[in-house]
Amino acid sequence: MYNPKSQKATEFIDHQEILDTLAYADANKANAALIDSILEKAERRKGLSHREASVLLACELPDRTERMYRLAEQIKKDFYGSRIVMFAPLYLSNYCVNGCVYCPYHHQNKHIARKKLTQEDIVREVTALQDMGHKRLALEAGEDPVNNPIEYILESIKTIYSIKHKNGAIRRVNVNIAATTVENYRRLRDAGIGTYILFQETYHKESYEKLHPTGPKHNYDYHTEAMDRAMQGGIDDVGLGVLFGLELYRYEFAGLLMHAEHLEAAYGVGPHTISVPRIKRADDIDPNVFDNGIDDDTFAKITACIRIAVPYTGMIISTRENKKVRERLLHLGISQISGASRTSVGGYAEDEPEDEKSEQFDVSDNRTLDEVVRWLMELGYIPSFCTACYREGRTGDRFMSLCKSGQIQNCCQPNALMTLKEYLTDYASPKTREVGERLIEAEMKNVASDKVRFIAAERLVKIAQGERDFRF
Ligand code: SAM
Repeated sequence: MYNPKSQKATEFIDHQEILDTLAYADANKANAALIDSILEKAERRKGLSHREASVLLACELPDRTERMYRLAEQIKKDFYGSRIVMFAPLYLSNYCVNGCVYCPYHHQNKHIARKKLTQEDIVREVTALQDMGHKRLALEAGEDPVNNPIEYILESIKTIYSIKHKNGAIRRVNVNIAATTVENYRRLRDAGIGTYILFQETYHKESYEKLHPTGPKHNYDYHTEAMDRAMQGGIDDVGLGVLFGLELYRYEFAGLLMHAEHLEAAYGVGPHTISVPRIKRADDIDPNVFDNGIDDDTFAKITACIRIAVPYTGMIISTRENKKVRERLLHLGISQISGASRTSVGGYAEDEPEDEKSEQFDVSDNRTLDEVVRWLMELGYIPSFCTACYREGRTGDRFMSLCKSGQIQNCCQPNALMTLKEYLTDYASPKTREVGERLIEAEMKNVASDKVRFIAAERLVKIAQGERDFRF
């Protein structure tokens, strides 16, 4: 029985409820009156249920789809302004005991180079990341209790936070590691992580079990209930995602929103972020063997519908996508993007030799961080290196209620501009700096409070003089 409050995976992601939702969406995909009423609700910025959002996703009326796209862009502007948060992944280890059939790290893959960063390697990698200008990382690791135990992850986090190279610092470490115990989530929380990210891969239990034939990840319920344990362990910023291409996208979409509704119903706080990865070519992996690949138009529609359904949730796009796709999705709701990513274990400090490749998937956007930052600014966005919220204790429901009241804008806009100023001063090319300085001047006018604007202006001067790490 479907029960969003239940802590049992098969009750909050109820298969029959998803099938009923898809049937309802199909029956109403050309029902203009219903679609209009759903869009009107969405326009009030209250979000949508999985059923309502599924109708929008199924909608076949071109003018309504256009309206959806415009609304997604407007909602994003209302909640995020023009800010885009920047981050980079850091792969710690690709040792893995699982058999995930879409992932090159799967246990049976004997020709990928297996690597694990030592603490000294981490210092080199993080120094290289700091020298690019990154302040926020997403840690990635395969699941391997012997090679990558929780102690290794915790030690690595400690190392990362301790590295202060020139003016650099990693100020927020998000973590994307396999589902674990409440106790381990508590230890991750105590280590000061930002968001705990775990992709569901697919919400379809039967497919999930086939796609994860061996290893601890085979257990659908344990994986699907991971966010519940994370919340019980005191982590209140969690990030959801599915790997699009594995199962029917409309099924995944409904499941993803039901998961978000479950977190809201059971813990009073929805997901902090939602990621939208699509399956990519990789060592030993041909994405074409998966039948459910989605084209760029469908991908855009999914992104817009998620944006409309959960207006307060950040949305992340990685370098799995190329510049053109990223540009399109930025208009439809994406609020965080990675830049200059390496998906190999090591590779920031120096390139991997050809015969020792360890990467997880092919990257489709190979630009430098400087190029990505300038591109964003030329599109009218403010690249933000801000990490203030969680460092000020604005996480979970505190973050969400500030977001919902609109108060957060008074912090986010100046914080984005101050961290951009740091980036421009310390790391940008002369051309990027020039574009950025003009942008900061123009965007300071959009800081609503006179008092905050005044303080931010003073701080911008101080940053130019060498002071760092201001935040509201
Ligand atoms: N081992 C952890 C887990 O079980 O969730 C860490 C995650 S892994 C390093 C990060 C994500 O990469 C996976 O959750 C999966 O969705 C994605 N991934 C795996 N293979 C991929 C591929 N071939 N193309 C695109 N993304 C892939």
